[in-house]
Amino acid sequence: MTDTGAPRPHGTTVAWTVDDGTNAESIRLFVAETGVRVTLFPCGSYPGWAEHAALWRPLVASGQAQVGNHTWSHREFTDLTDDEIIEELTLSEEFFLKHYGLSTKPYFRPPNGSRDDRTDAAAARAGFTVQAMWSSLLVEGPTRTAEELIASADVAFHPGGIVIGHLNLDVMQDALPALLGAITTAGLRSVTIRDVFAA
Ligand SMILES: [Zn+2]
Repeated sequence: MTDTGAPRPHGTTVAWTVDDGTNAESIRLFVAETGVRVTLFPCGSYPGWAEHAALWRPLVASGQAQVGNHTWSHREFTDLTDDEIIEELTLSEEFFLKHYGLSTKPYFRPPNGSRDDRTDAAAARAGFTVQAMWSSLLVEGPTRTAEELIASADVAFHPGGIVIGHLNLDVMQDALPALLGAITTAGLRSVTIRDVFAA
């Protein structure tokens, strides 16, 4: 059965998820700065994940970081055949199992949230049955400033939230310490997607 990924209330926790990873320096810095529990939804084809695998591997081993499946190359599922969906998920699963040391199953996030019943069924055939959608987004984009990104944290990091940020832009590097501080200031405990769905 496929879980719809609807956020569930957890009074004092927040699940920060970071997606994609087109910016290798953001991937590197996030490890150095973060003490929070975090879930990655990376695309295996972006070179920064291979480049910085050794940094992330201990965090994955300790359970501080979880790796979910966001496909190999970020193609939208509704544009793909069943076999292509399975290939996209399987390529990333094999990459992160090999380089990060843990399976991504059964957690996945379809690129851009693009999905329907057919794509859910195809993903399930590849072993991915828990869709980790989200409840809020940090404000990011090529024209956004670090101040705008930081300001969005007060709303985005809410109790019980599943929050999306991306490791795609330099602005994340500048905002990172303040974003981490915002979780603490809000009195929230960070959890991974595994924690959310296991609870
Ligand atoms: Zn994405």
